[in-house]
Amino acid sequence: MAKTAETVWNNCLKFIEDNISPQAYKTWFEPVLAVKLQDQSLSIQVPSKFFYEWLEEHYFNLLKVALTKEIGKGAKLLYIIKMENRAGSSQSFTEKIPSSHRGKVSSQDVNMKVTSKSPELKNPFVIPGIRNLKIDSQLNANYNFDNFLEGESNRLARSAGKAIANKPGGTSFNPLLVFGGSGLGKTHLAHAIGVDIKEKYPDKTVLYISAEKFTQQYIDSAIKRKNLNDFIHFYQLIDVLIVDDIQLLSGKMKTQEAFFHIFNHLHQNGKQVILTSDKAPVDMQEIEQRLLSRFKWGLSAELQVPDYYTRRKIIESKLYRDGVEMPEDIIDYVAKNIKSNIRELEGAIISLIAHSSFSKTEVDIELAQKIVSNFVRKTKKDVSIDQIQKTVSEYFNMDIETLQSKTRKRHIVQARQIAMYFAKKMTKSSLASIGKQIGSRDHATVLHACKTVDNLQSTDKEFKKYVEDLTSKLKN
Ligand code: ADP
Ligand code: MG
Repeated sequence: MAKTAETVWNNCLKFIEDNISPQAYKTWFEPVLAVKLQDQSLSIQVPSKFFYEWLEEHYFNLLKVALTKEIGKGAKLLYIIKMENRAGSSQSFTEKIPSSHRGKVSSQDVNMKVTSKSPELKNPFVIPGIRNLKIDSQLNANYNFDNFLEGESNRLARSAGKAIANKPGGTSFNPLLVFGGSGLGKTHLAHAIGVDIKEKYPDKTVLYISAEKFTQQYIDSAIKRKNLNDFIHFYQLIDVLIVDDIQLLSGKMKTQEAFFHIFNHLHQNGKQVILTSDKAPVDMQEIEQRLLSRFKWGLSAELQVPDYYTRRKIIESKLYRDGVEMPEDIIDYVAKNIKSNIRELEGAIISLIAHSSFSKTEVDIELAQKIVSNFVRKTKKDVSIDQIQKTVSEYFNMDIETLQSKTRKRHIVQARQIAMYFAKKMTKSSLASIGKQIGSRDHATVLHACKTVDNLQSTDKEFKKYVEDLTSKLKN
């Protein structure tokens, strides 16, 4: 019996089916149609360019073996790509010969028999003109585990990160959400995980992206090309997706929706997702519930303010890497006085090193004091929730117990709301923790208080004055 495209392909399918998971078979092979057999070339039609790339990327060898078995050594496979979502799609074909020139994610010319506006897989990281799917991971190798010092404040997040690097997608930490205040190492840790994965699994596609850039790309593809599927498909090709500062998606509902689809696809396929945020999930506002709940599927690990011992270790390692020696008392002074932000800690040390090398003098404690005071003044003064409650209740002539009480008397409620508002504004505490400390309320009450204070300030002059007075009291 003469071989037809269909019989050849059906035999290939049987072989393929025996060699991959039923799920993968269903997803990637059932939708394929055998179209034409000419000499030793089999043409198959796939539903999209993404589909073709996926087959090439993941099943190239399998296809080659199957095809060779069926039609001999000179077998060739041609893809016919049915363009999606386009007018006149039934005539728009693209053909492709994979077997002859293929390196890993190599640049292959795609021969498009499309008259105009040839659709392209939008890969935001591909250099224009080079048509390949080589994805730059955007990782910074200087942020690695070796120089991410361990301390009590980051132990959980760091070890979860290490576990993920050993087995991306294979731990229960998926997604990993690293959260914590500014300058505490979120970006560093996120890169370190990616860098480590790339070392251990060079074949895995890792991508680091800030939520800001992600949003920009989303908007670009939404506006310019209306090619959202391609945008989403591109991200669905990633094995390890790292999105930094995910809180920046708040309020951006469309971008969140795109991210939702990407997340689901990756998660379902055992791909690893790593997220960072400057807030705990419970404090994230204007992020869709379905996304928030997914953020909590894996592990949320907080980066806390480092303790004195860790701060010292960080300073010492920075000095060591730069080959600089510094007197003990100076190191001690800096570690004792810059507490809540590692970026500032490093900044102060760099300043000190710069001063000493420019003036070729030993750094003395006076210079250290001067530099540290610059850094500390630039940061918001650390105010505790206790101080806030004390200042607010004194201002309104009540005691702290009254401020915290369950009463609904208007002036007391307002004072309490103002205290909550300042606690949110001036400390790094979560809404939940503020609520707990100011009269055992829940986070929704604190959120409501913050909104009320914001509103009242613009409608009530007297109220505005209270807030201004208290602002200056708390800042001094
Ligand atoms: P975030 O993203 O949380 O704002 P970064 O990751 O940018 O913070 O960290 C700020 C600086 O502090 C970076 O230079 C980083 O290398 C450094 N840093 C943070 N945590 C550590 C750590 N555990 N060990 C060494 N350096 C750290
Ligand atoms: Mg960061």
